[in-house]
Amino acid sequence: AAARPFNFCAGPAALPVELLHRVAEQLADFEGTGLSIMEMSHRDAGGPVQRMIQDATFAVRTILEVPASYDIIWQQGGAHGQFAAVPLNLLGERRSADYVDTGVWSQKAMAEASKYCEVRIAAATEASCHSEIPPVESWDLSEDSAYVHICANDTIYGLEFLQDPDVGDKLLVADFTSTLLSRRVNFDRYAAIYCSAGKNLGTAGVCLVVVRKDLLGRARANTPCILDWTAYSQTAPVPSLLNTPPVFPLYIRDGRTVLRHLLEQWGTSGTGALAALESRAEARARRLYREVDESGGFYTNHVSDANRSRVTICFRFGADAGMLREWDGSITSIAQPTQLEARFLAEAQDRGLLQLGGHPAFGGIRVCLYNAVPDAAVDELVCFMRAFREARA
Ligand code: PMP
Repeated sequence: AAARPFNFCAGPAALPVELLHRVAEQLADFEGTGLSIMEMSHRDAGGPVQRMIQDATFAVRTILEVPASYDIIWQQGGAHGQFAAVPLNLLGERRSADYVDTGVWSQKAMAEASKYCEVRIAAATEASCHSEIPPVESWDLSEDSAYVHICANDTIYGLEFLQDPDVGDKLLVADFTSTLLSRRVNFDRYAAIYCSAGKNLGTAGVCLVVVRKDLLGRARANTPCILDWTAYSQTAPVPSLLNTPPVFPLYIRDGRTVLRHLLEQWGTSGTGALAALESRAEARARRLYREVDESGGFYTNHVSDANRSRVTICFRFGADAGMLREWDGSITSIAQPTQLEARFLAEAQDRGLLQLGGHPAFGGIRVCLYNAVPDAAVDELVCFMRAFREARA
């Protein structure tokens, strides 16, 4: 078979190819049942769909070492659903919430939350042109706010919380959509985290929520049931069976495929899996940033070391510095690539290096190193970046 190209897509992200083959083999006949998993009832007690949800939950608990005091549920509606679910489930009687604005995804979360409460900006990265996240000690947190929200990795600027901030006894909530399974998480610091699949967890259509059990039961009365964490955590005989679950995305990310693959690779106890994934992410990102930093200004990235994303590595061309486009505030606008960007993307594509363009509204180059991107892709990209630069020296 022809070699597969290397896929750096920002999401839906690359999937491990061996798992795609496994899914193809099982598609029409799931584990000898004669049916596909998409054709089976989720109400069949102990049946394949329920076991799949349990396996996925077990794998998340094991790999991420989620403490027993947290519930794990699987909702629909992606991270956008959670932008609303967070205030609806956590505000209680309170009327405001604190948000750390690190870019587009925080702003989207804020826009949705502002439908339900007053949104306070506790800290922002705009003043530093999104090059660093202000230290937690400087955040303006309000006594009256119900919770503090952060986006663990802003995929557009490549700005990441590499450490879990300590907000004391305030409730910290984080969007881990693009970060989960690339570093260890200190759950003690969080009231809840959520992670839309489509990056390291598999394919879009389901969203993982991990929430401290003692925070359940405070959803607003008008919370739609499909965003209600408590309702999801209480369904029987397994959680997350409130309505027909998104079986196929669960199947892709559950114990059968992405998560099982990780457990198989690192041992069923899961111990060490995350530490290994973290050092791999760290080493791969370091190689790319070194290529940028040692390019004599040909490639540029302005994010401070403490916040340089390990999963979404963004850079531009030094020669384009004078022509950086101002973002017009719309995520649906399209930035025209500069000549260098267009050349880079075209030559990369010819070399089998796909989907390296920045977010269409921002341009630039964005390298997404989700877990299923093989190390060989990083080798090939680094070689290409060097050759591209040297050809223009
Ligand atoms: N948050 C972050 C950090 C993301 O990267 C994305 C998707 N790229 C989202 C939220 C939105 O996720 P969804 O499309 O599943 O709602």
